[in-house]
Amino acid sequence: MHDVVVVGYGPTGAIAAGLLGLRGLSTCVIDSQASIYDKPRAIALDHEIMRVFQQLNILEEIKDFVEPFTDSHFFGAQGDWIKCMSTVAPPYPQTFVPSLVFSQPLLERVLRERIESIDCVSVELEKKVVGLHQSTDHVTLQVQDNKGYPSNIDAKYVIACDGATSTIRGLLGIELEDLGFDEPWLVIDVLVNEKGLKRIPKVSVQYCEPSRPSSYVMGPKNHRRWEISINEGEDPQYLATEEGAWSLLSRWLERDEAVIWRQASYRFHALVAKEWQSNRIFIAGDAAHQQPPFLGQGMCQGIRDACNLVWKMDAVFKNQASEKILSTYAIERKAHVTELTQRIKSIGKLIGERDPQKAMERDRQLLESCGGKVIPTPRQDVQPAITGGCLSTDTCAAKGTLFPQAWIKDGEKWARMDDVFSGWRVQYRSGFNFTLNPIQIEFEKKISLKQLTWGEGGIEEKENVVNDWMIRNGCKAVIVRPDHYVFATCNDASSMNRALSDLMNQYNTNI
Ligand SMILES: Cc1cc2nc3c(=O)[nH]c(=O)nc-3n(C[C@H](O)[C@H](O)[C@H](O)COP(=O)(O)OP(=O)(O)OC[C@H]3O[C@@H](n4cnc5c(N)ncnc54)[C@H](O)[C@@H]3O)c2cc1C
Repeated sequence: MHDVVVVGYGPTGAIAAGLLGLRGLSTCVIDSQASIYDKPRAIALDHEIMRVFQQLNILEEIKDFVEPFTDSHFFGAQGDWIKCMSTVAPPYPQTFVPSLVFSQPLLERVLRERIESIDCVSVELEKKVVGLHQSTDHVTLQVQDNKGYPSNIDAKYVIACDGATSTIRGLLGIELEDLGFDEPWLVIDVLVNEKGLKRIPKVSVQYCEPSRPSSYVMGPKNHRRWEISINEGEDPQYLATEEGAWSLLSRWLERDEAVIWRQASYRFHALVAKEWQSNRIFIAGDAAHQQPPFLGQGMCQGIRDACNLVWKMDAVFKNQASEKILSTYAIERKAHVTELTQRIKSIGKLIGERDPQKAMERDRQLLESCGGKVIPTPRQDVQPAITGGCLSTDTCAAKGTLFPQAWIKDGEKWARMDDVFSGWRVQYRSGFNFTLNPIQIEFEKKISLKQLTWGEGGIEEKENVVNDWMIRNGCKAVIVRPDHYVFATCNDASSMNRALSDLMNQYNTNI
């Protein structure tokens, strides 16, 4: 029997399998297909996801096809510049450029190579799940290989990352909630030659034109993507042919300037599963949510799901926490995904306004809100905090947000913080002292809680990212979860005591 079976070896399943494997859990990942999908769908990712790739130790392998996202310029109904989404200036809060573009097939290949090098992970391709049975202490998956030969796979837990049409979601009878977005769009991925590159924009662009809202994304190297809305009366099937795609792409490029990598028409949806857990089965990634691609967050959301669940499963397998902690997965992720999807939807609505009068009013308001002149807004500001779930009960600054990663002194060299520390951490600002009581010391040992002091006499950082963060959030100590989210910020001994006792409650375990 495996500890965990991951169903689906797309990006969500690959990350889940990799993180489970790094923690030594016996993991089997299965996929109905023989190999990766060789066309890009996701093109953008963010610094939080780079931190996950860092954990999997693949930064060197992916560096040639991951690049910073350029600024996105928004042009209004009459072609005026109305908005700019930019990148924050260094020092970067997570050591990486906050928004990036990448090549999905190449990334997936690297991920698979890495995962397949981990001893406790086995990979079964060309096997599809067709049925399941749950008992009190395990799940049995009924599987068929590509010749129709049946077999069973048992696991204590299952993570279903089997994509938008998830078989497992269907078998569990879980419905999707419609968050109210449904539009037909054409997506064209193009490899542009030197001649074409000279003519097309050098930044990403949102064409907020009522007659045909469109997005242009600068991918890595010469990869460019156009997402073009399909008008009423147009045939999505024809537009998804090479001929049809060129009929719209010709606004920007001539045929001798580029090769189309792929074209596909989609209905952009905003859907979220009503339930994310059924006893021992958890759904994640596109199986649990789908969102329009306007902020490039679909895959990122799936990777966040995997990260959120894996450390909690690890705590249960290590007998640190009771199974109750697993129920916080659905609470945290569903609320986060729903809120972010609402923000994505509002960007989609802003870009996609079809009424010319309303579009002109939108342009006027956007410009007026920044004093008549476009002010760049950093993209990362769109991320909501985690709420509910495994967090302290106190109202405190920055609770549920991602704690920064700093460059820190490790011996003689500078290292990324996560390469030096992992797991639960209490991080103190220099000068704040707190002594654990005997019960807290027992708990500290049980969950391997680390106590770190920043600044004078403690950890030396290169760019003051952590210290500035603590000052900005007005706190003297922070309790950080293994997935780097802030459990609590504290200012004195009593708030520390409350936060630690909340943490013990969350783990619901005897010392
Ligand atoms: C046009 C477009 C643009 C996008 N842009 C971005 C972007 O810029 N940034 C971003 O973060 N996201 C983006 N996304 C979203 C992103 O591509 C998806 O969210 C992501 O690929 C989903 O990953 P996944 O692993 O959850 O699912 P999938 O990649 O769909 O993987 C599911 C896997 O499960 C397998 N499977 C299915 N059924 C079974 C079964 N019964 N048994 C066994 N295996 C099974 C499939 O073979 C597949 O390999 C975009 C999506 C689209 C369509």
